[in-house]
Amino acid sequence: MCGIVGYIGKREAYPIIIKGLKRLEYRGYDSAGVALLNGGLKVFKKKGKVSELEGSVSADATKSNLGIGHTRWATHGEPNDINAHPHVSQNGKLAIIHNGIIENYQSLKTELEQKGHKFKSQTDSEVVIHLVEEILLNNSCSLEEAVRLALNEIIGAYAICVISEDDKSQLIAARKGSPLVIGIGDGEFFVASDATPIIEYTNNVVYLDDYEIAIIRDGELIVKSIEDVIKTPFIHKLEMELESIEKGGFPHFMLKEIYEQPKSIRDCLRGRLIATDSHLNLNGMLQFMNKFTNAERLIFVACGTSWHAGLVAEYLFEDIARVNVEVEYASEFRYRNPVIRENDIVVAISQSGETADTLAAIEMAKSKGATIFGVCNVVGSSISRASHAGAYIHAGPEIGVASTKAFTGQVTVLTMMALILGLKKGTLTENRFRELIFALDQIPNKIQKILDDTSSVKKIAETFQFAKNFLYLGRGYNFPVALEGALKLKEISYIHAEGYPAAEMKHGPIALIDEDMPVVFIAPKDSTYEKIISNIQEVKARKGKVIAIVTEGEKDIFNMSDYVVEIPATEECLQPLLSSIPLQLLSYYVAINRGCNVDQPRNLAKSVTVE
Ligand code: GLU
Repeated sequence: MCGIVGYIGKREAYPIIIKGLKRLEYRGYDSAGVALLNGGLKVFKKKGKVSELEGSVSADATKSNLGIGHTRWATHGEPNDINAHPHVSQNGKLAIIHNGIIENYQSLKTELEQKGHKFKSQTDSEVVIHLVEEILLNNSCSLEEAVRLALNEIIGAYAICVISEDDKSQLIAARKGSPLVIGIGDGEFFVASDATPIIEYTNNVVYLDDYEIAIIRDGELIVKSIEDVIKTPFIHKLEMELESIEKGGFPHFMLKEIYEQPKSIRDCLRGRLIATDSHLNLNGMLQFMNKFTNAERLIFVACGTSWHAGLVAEYLFEDIARVNVEVEYASEFRYRNPVIRENDIVVAISQSGETADTLAAIEMAKSKGATIFGVCNVVGSSISRASHAGAYIHAGPEIGVASTKAFTGQVTVLTMMALILGLKKGTLTENRFRELIFALDQIPNKIQKILDDTSSVKKIAETFQFAKNFLYLGRGYNFPVALEGALKLKEISYIHAEGYPAAEMKHGPIALIDEDMPVVFIAPKDSTYEKIISNIQEVKARKGKVIAIVTEGEKDIFNMSDYVVEIPATEECLQPLLSSIPLQLLSYYVAINRGCNVDQPRNLAKSVTVE
C-alpha cells in the first residue's frame, strides 16, 4: 500500500514524480506529497488525491532535479495534511517517504522525545527521519550510514526514500517487506513502488531485496545490505508496454480490465495449452512434478479475491486430481501454528505478489519444509521470488482496485495445474483431459460473447442501484463465485452483500429475505441444477427478488426468475470463468449508477503490503 516515487538526474523531478504518483494512486490515495531539493528542502503535501496536490503547487516553486513523492494509505494517524508524507527531521534538512508500518515506533518516539525531538504528525513514519537525524548528530557519519544504523533499530515493514539538504546529489532508498524498484536511465535514476512510473523512461530495473539499501549518488547506484556488505545488483529488463497501464478509451481501469479478459486469458494460455495437440504444460510445475504427484495435501494460501480463486482450486483439485486440499486465509494460517509436513505443497495466490500476510505465510511454511508454488501476476514480485516454483498468470498490469482479470487469470492457471496433475496421476483419462482442454481453450471466446451484450446486466444494475443489501448464492464451483460477486459489490458500491452456499441459506440468511432483498443465484446448468431450483423457490416463496445467472437456452430457472443473465454453456469445472463475468459487470454498473469511484474505492488499496 502507498505509492513511492523518487527521481534523481538531469530532468525536472517534479513532473516525473507527479505523473508517477498518479500511476501508483491505486495503491493509496488519501493524501499525497512531494519533497524537492531546490536550494533548500521544499515540501508540499496535502490531504486528498494527487491532482489536488498538483493544483496547489505553483510551477516555479518546483524547479529541482532531485525529489521524492508519496501517495498515502494511512495506517497510523488520520489522512490529513500533517500526516501526509514526506516527513521532515527536526532541523528541516532531511525528508523521508515511507510505505509500511514501523511496529516499534512508539518506543523509539518516546526515546527521541526524551532527547528533545518534537513530532508534528501521528505517523509511525516520522519517527524514522528523527532517528536518522539523531544518529547523524551523535556520530560523525554519512547520511547513508545513519540510515543504515536507523534501519537496524527498526522493527516492521518499510520501503523508504530519504534525501538531505546537505547532499543535493544523493538519494537513499531501502526496503524490508514493502516493494521497491529502481529504474536505471542514462545518468538518471527512478525509484518506485512498482515499475509503472518507470516504464516510460527505461526498461532497466533493479528490484531491491529485503534488508537492502540503495545509495544513488553522483550518477551511480550502489546496493548494500543493512549489515554494510556491498551487493551486485541484478538488472532486469522490463517487458511491460506503456499502453497496458493506460485506460485505452475506457472510462475506468476496472471496465477496461473486465473487457480485457478474453485477451488476458488467451495470454495466460499462450504457449501452455495447444488444444489440437492435446498439449498442456506449465514449466514451473515440471521440475516439481514428483512433489505434486506425491503430495498428500495442497494448501492454498491467499487473501481477498485470491482466496476465492483458492476456493475454486479446492473444487478443481479434489475433483480432477483427487488430492486433499485446504484453503487458508494467509493472515489466519500464519498465526495458527498449523501442521505442515514436508510433502505438503503450499500454493500462494496473489495478484501483486506483495501481499504481506501471504508472503509471511509462505516464509513460515517454507521454514517447516513445505514446497512453495507461487501464482502471481506481477513478474519479479516478492512472492514469486520467495517461491520454489510458480506460474505467472500473465494478465498484464491490473490497476483497478477491485480485482477482475487477475481473478480469472488465477482460476485459469489453477485449472491448468489441476488438469496437468490429474492426467499425471491418472485420475483424469486422456479423453476427458482432451475434452477439458478444448473447453478451456474456448473460454476467451465465450467471455467475449458475454461482454458483447451487457444490456441485461445494465438493466439489473439500474433496478437495484438503491438496494441496501444483496445476497449471492451458488453451489459447488459457483459457491466461490457467489463470494466473489458479493465482495465485488461491497468493494466498489458500498452496498452490503453476502455470499453463501445456496443450501446454507436456510440455516440463517433466509431470515433476511423480503420483497426488498435482491438475491443473485449463480445457477448455470450443472450437477446441482435441480437443487438450486429448490433454493430459488424458497426465496420466491418469501417474495425475494431473484436475479439468476443461467446457461443460455435454459428455460426452468429463466421462467421462475425476476431477472436473468445468460452465459454460454461450458464444462462444470470451468463455469467460474464465465459466471464471474456478469457479476463483475453488475458491481461495476451499480457503483457507477451510485456515483462511486470504482477505480479508487474508499478505504481500499490494491496491493496490501501491510499485515
Ligand atoms: N504507516 C505509514 C502512515 O500511516 C505509511 C502508510 C503507507 O504505507 O501509506 O503514514
